[in-house]
Amino acid sequence: MTTTQTGRTHRVVVIGSGFGGLFGAQALKRRDDVEVTLVARTAHHLFQPLLYQVATGILSEGEIAPSTREVLARQKNARVVLGEVTDIDLEARTVTSELLGTETVLEYDSLLVAAGAGQSWFGHDEFAEFAPGMKSVDDALELRGRIFGAFEVAELATSPEDARRALTFVVVGAGPTGVEMAGQIAELAGRTLKHDFRRIDPTQAHVILLDAADTVLPTFGERLGGAARRRLQEMGVDVRTGSMVTDVDEQGLTYKDRQGHETRVEALTKVWAAGVQASPLGARLAEQSGAETDRAGRVLVEDDLTLPGHPEVFVVGDMMALRDLPGVAQVAIQGARFAAKEIGRRLDGKPSQGRFEYFDKGSMATVSRFSAVASIGRLRFHGFLAWLLWLGVHLVYIIGFKNRVTTLLHWAISFLGRGRSERVATEQQVFARRALARSGDAVPDEVRRVG
Ligand SMILES: Cc1cc2nc3c(=O)[nH]c(=O)nc-3n(C[C@H](O)[C@H](O)[C@H](O)COP(=O)(O)OP(=O)(O)OC[C@H]3O[C@@H](n4cnc5c(N)ncnc54)[C@H](O)[C@@H]3O)c2cc1C
Repeated sequence: MTTTQTGRTHRVVVIGSGFGGLFGAQALKRRDDVEVTLVARTAHHLFQPLLYQVATGILSEGEIAPSTREVLARQKNARVVLGEVTDIDLEARTVTSELLGTETVLEYDSLLVAAGAGQSWFGHDEFAEFAPGMKSVDDALELRGRIFGAFEVAELATSPEDARRALTFVVVGAGPTGVEMAGQIAELAGRTLKHDFRRIDPTQAHVILLDAADTVLPTFGERLGGAARRRLQEMGVDVRTGSMVTDVDEQGLTYKDRQGHETRVEALTKVWAAGVQASPLGARLAEQSGAETDRAGRVLVEDDLTLPGHPEVFVVGDMMALRDLPGVAQVAIQGARFAAKEIGRRLDGKPSQGRFEYFDKGSMATVSRFSAVASIGRLRFHGFLAWLLWLGVHLVYIIGFKNRVTTLLHWAISFLGRGRSERVATEQQVFARRALARSGDAVPDEVRRVG
């Protein structure tokens, strides 16, 4: 079935319900002369910075992924269309999406493309099965199943080697996500699960953080990166920088050091927290407009975030390449707000804002409970103060009052106490189950009901 959008007002189609898409749509809420259609392949907005907390049982997926429809319910000029965008036709000014065999064609006067980026395994997509990335709710739940499941496998192991393999966790990529994941797996093993098993000692879990670069958190500079590394090491995380992964399989991985020496690590659970690849919609835009894309598939946009030769099309967030701006939430939010304002100014017959200027509000990463690193303007600090700031900023950006309250409660349970409220992995999460089932000789029923 093909449906066509009609309307007398200025039609803005927004692709994506992430930071760029949602904040862009919201920025148009006061415009009675604009009709916004937000099309995305998930029915939720996703607060990606806290995905690692879903993966490690601190938060539920609902807390970081509110329904887009609910968020926009009161915005009368906006409607939500669920579907995977399969094509953008710049000539005809249409966006085609698909959901369960139903094709929808949306016509636009202005287009805001914010389809983000996926994980990149640097040309080795075959690694993905054994070392999942962390970009979506599905990824986080998959990893949750694998992480908690690995302790179950260890409890049932019939040899010390099998137990050791099950209790070895490797996180690839020492950027903020990798550091946060490694820190949380170490806390999970050392605090939360400490008393839960009878045959194994979870505190003996071996967490390894690998990165091809020489530093931890390179974008935070040497001092903060060094502080994060020391804190991780105090927690027992084995940090191995200058180590490039060359192979990954079900039972472990291999990496090469700077001298070319290869090391094999037996590890059941691997997490891939390195590399991004922009949405393939970027290539589709480039193909039709002649715009260039960079190595990560991001579209090189004009200074005002428009697609070269197409002032009616804005590309923002992780999909766009402009002046080395980083792939962070604030770039997407500010870019989307700039684009929305530009659309409004054009409708009002006002001059353009000119060049998009990004205001860097700083960046933060947690290492463990009560410990984070923060870089704000010229200020660089770490420890408890940075962690408190991290806590406050994340609470502000979590969408919805209800989610803020429950998140705060879950944080109290996990950070003041030892507990984790979200340890469920359901039978439906089959990939995690299968991965576990294949890894052991016989994984009994208990593992299929981790929680
Ligand atoms: C694990 C993790 C941790 C992070 N931590 C931080 C942090 O601490 N601080 C920070 O500032 N940034 C962080 N980031 C980066 C930040 O989340 C991104 O920069 C930001 O989400 C980019 O926003 P976006 O709108 O461009 O893309 P996204 O937020 O990724 O949104 C993309 C949207 O497009 C939709 N979409 C994609 N393809 C299609 C299609 N074909 N059809 C329909 N819809 C489609 C997706 O479903 C999604 O709704 C983190 C990212 C990850 C993955």
